[in-house]
Amino acid sequence: MIKIVDYSFEHFPVEYVLCGKFQTDNLEKRFGRYRYLSGCNYHISINEILESEKKIRLQNVLKTCNTEFDLKELRNSSLTSEQDTFSVDISDFLFILETDYLISYDVDEAVKIYICGCGPFSHKKKISCTKCQEKLIKSKGVMLELDYFDYLQRAGLCIPADEIGYIYHHACAIFTYIIDHENTLKMLFARLDHKTILGTLIVESLESDVFIDLKIICECGMPHKKIYTATTFIICNILLNNFTKNKNNLCHKEKSDKKRKLLTLTS
Ligand SMILES: [Zn+2]
Repeated sequence: MIKIVDYSFEHFPVEYVLCGKFQTDNLEKRFGRYRYLSGCNYHISINEILESEKKIRLQNVLKTCNTEFDLKELRNSSLTSEQDTFSVDISDFLFILETDYLISYDVDEAVKIYICGCGPFSHKKKISCTKCQEKLIKSKGVMLELDYFDYLQRAGLCIPADEIGYIYHHACAIFTYIIDHENTLKMLFARLDHKTILGTLIVESLESDVFIDLKIICECGMPHKKIYTATTFIICNILLNNFTKNKNNLCHKEKSDKKRKLLTLTS
């Protein structure tokens, strides 16, 4: 590296050399793809590398020779053909919708925008229609004068559409109600399909929301209900995930008095 720098100063009229440009990112990216194509396997064989290389080249050829064929379109059509009703029995939980769960729940705006922005953002990639995308994300990188959010975003995060915010509110309100009532919580986790139950319950409560119209169908043929249902399930996942993580952390704390590694590092 030093020799390259010396050589550059001697033979070219340069004032400085950006050493950061000498890196192996592209090479690492390629090897990353090899591993990914070999079933996310970390230790791959030479055969697998050769096979992956063939796959990558084939993908590139397909991309250039057939512009009308788009994988996204294919995925889109599979999304629209999915069943939009879930055959799961939520009758035991419907009473929650009769309570004042929405009014009693207090939403943290910054957290809401952060979660609603990152969840639907991953879903947005699966949708090719721009009008449908607008249903998920309003804009990108706008400062909102919410300290926590502005600190996190540094002008690069997505701002969710208002409807997504309402969905989040419904989801959190219902989940908080369940957590606050031990019997309901036990009832939910006694069922194997608790994620589907929670999601279906939230979609059910959206039906009564005046701000969200589930009946509209986009010009591209995608019913809005489908987009909102998918978003609901993403939010559901995040909520359940956080809940289990918190529970796990509590269990760990109770089990051992020893500080965990991360804690000792930060203290
Ligand atoms: Zn559309």
